[in-house]
Amino acid sequence: MRAIHHWIDGKATPGTSGRTADVFNPATGEVQARVDLASRAEIDAAIARAAQAQVAWGATNPQRRARVMMKMVDLINRDMDKMAEMLSSEHGKTFPDAKGDIQRGLEVIEFSIGAPHFMKGEFIDGAGPGIDMYSMRQPLGVVAAITPFNFPAMIPLWKLGPALAAGNAVILKPSERDPTVPNMIAELFKEAGLPDGVLQVIHGDKEAVDALLDSDVIQAVGFVGSTPIAQYIYERAAQTGKRAQCFGGAKNHMIIMPDADLDQAADALVGAGYGAAGERCMAISVAVPVGEETADRLIEKLVPRIEKLKVGPWTAGDDVDYGPVVTRAAQENILRLVETGVAQGAELVVDGRDFSLQGYEDGFFVGPHLFDRVTPDMDIYRKEIFGPVLSTVRAASYEEALKLAMDHEYGNGIAMFTRDGDTARDFASRVNVGMIGINVPIPVPLAYFTFGGWKKSGFGDLNQHGPDAFRFYTRTKTVTSRWPSGIKEGSAFNFKAMD
Ligand code: NAD
Repeated sequence: MRAIHHWIDGKATPGTSGRTADVFNPATGEVQARVDLASRAEIDAAIARAAQAQVAWGATNPQRRARVMMKMVDLINRDMDKMAEMLSSEHGKTFPDAKGDIQRGLEVIEFSIGAPHFMKGEFIDGAGPGIDMYSMRQPLGVVAAITPFNFPAMIPLWKLGPALAAGNAVILKPSERDPTVPNMIAELFKEAGLPDGVLQVIHGDKEAVDALLDSDVIQAVGFVGSTPIAQYIYERAAQTGKRAQCFGGAKNHMIIMPDADLDQAADALVGAGYGAAGERCMAISVAVPVGEETADRLIEKLVPRIEKLKVGPWTAGDDVDYGPVVTRAAQENILRLVETGVAQGAELVVDGRDFSLQGYEDGFFVGPHLFDRVTPDMDIYRKEIFGPVLSTVRAASYEEALKLAMDHEYGNGIAMFTRDGDTARDFASRVNVGMIGINVPIPVPLAYFTFGGWKKSGFGDLNQHGPDAFRFYTRTKTVTSRWPSGIKEGSAFNFKAMD
């Protein structure tokens, strides 16, 4: 059985806690590896070593640190296929999707090459008589990144690029469900020239996370995962005065106006609703057609498209639309919520409950589901399902559709499909959601903008990547300086004294 160890001080390091977790092949349901789970003592030792290594790294000039990122770009491109295969085999997503996962992380490494620019402070001369004032951005020290299973390359890279380029040391605690790719990333960072100890990858569960949160050395925590854990981490991190940005779950709506191109909207909904088996924080899980006629026509267009979806293992080729979900528990939870939807009166228009794949009967596959006539009080509307289940809530008007999305507790992403610029503009301006798509179903901002949700989708006040990331991973120091006069007049200056 393959063993997945921690990455400490520039090498794979077996755990000492005696605890491990199973890592599955979601397509077959088999255990394919065991990952070490760190104890509090192991976490504390890794943090102490990172703190030593950070001193020299933080003092390295930002251009040199940026060169590590430049090299990293080449190395990730070199190993893209190898990493994507491993990612698919542990996560279950298709090979093109796995490459997309790595690619979107790589773009933040490219962005982080600009660290010297983002590290610059401000300056004003003559703030008073002979007084200059300037600010500088300095790294925080040792920071922690705690990341989810659904993007095992992208989200670690979103954290590592800006945090390391800004001069911090990072303890990365990736998801224990697909932990190998983060180790591969750490290996590449070493090859790119990152000094040992500056990046420590520690695998673990709640015990490891709590040790990170309670540490006095860790200065900031960047978290991505489900909302209850995001809120827990935000609160516990604050108890020791840490800076924290914690991104949580989502229930992303797509409003389809009567004037929308319905073929385009239906294609978009299928890609955004079922891609990656719905295990994306930017997946669309609620379709909101405006008007009964729009709804009827939309459902008519959706059904054949959904029924045509090809579900299978990543090894079955690039025409597979989506793969299994990550664990048996995830599969059971999704199917349980589907049953709740039926019991609470939603109309199950596409029923994937009996889905089974020959030769992969023990895999964690879930067939596609489409619900119509879902109402806001139902569990399938209120809860994040994180599976291939799309709910349709019919709205009578634009205002009703907008209010529906605004009243939902999550606020990660949202889309509108329309041909009317005025409605789209009003929507983008008023809606209380962090990332908006206009005729774009998954509006993930590029690396040089920032990524983050509102309401219960994000706790903390700075977003991921973009300039915000450098603000999050640095702190500002402001210097006011006045120099005594004399040297330039020559009176108090004695060249001999300098010899
Ligand atoms: P999760 O909350 O179960 O786990 C996330 C991380 O927290 C993992 O590293 C895990 O080990 C750790 N963790 C889990 N339980 C813990 C506990 N009780 N105490 C301390 N740490 C704990 O999330 P997941 O299932 O890995 O990921 C899916 C979730 O992430 C979904 O809700 C999805 O919407 C969300 N997500 C959000 C974004 C975003 O940017 N908002 C992006 C990706 C995923």
